[in-house]
Amino acid sequence: MGTLGDAFMRRRVSFPCPACGGMLSGTLDEVRTGRSVRCACGATVRLKEQGRCVEEVRKAMNKFESAMRRAGFRLRYRE
Ligand SMILES: [Zn+2]
Repeated sequence: MGTLGDAFMRRRVSFPCPACGGMLSGTLDEVRTGRSVRCACGATVRLKEQGRCVEEVRKAMNKFESAMRRAGFRLRYRE
């Protein structure tokens, strides 16, 4: 099942292809690790964020989750 942060990393984000403008999508984890996706037009687009926001959010969510657990809450999340 993984952590709250891991569940967040499986979220998909959409963005336009810089070459043809067609919509592409990837998971936040692919953005975090800088994966490449291939567009139908043949362009290869590297998923790269400015800075390290995704990783920061992942850490923050995991921190939040462990704080909640320590306080006695049981978190459940759906994807
Ligand atoms: Zn394209």
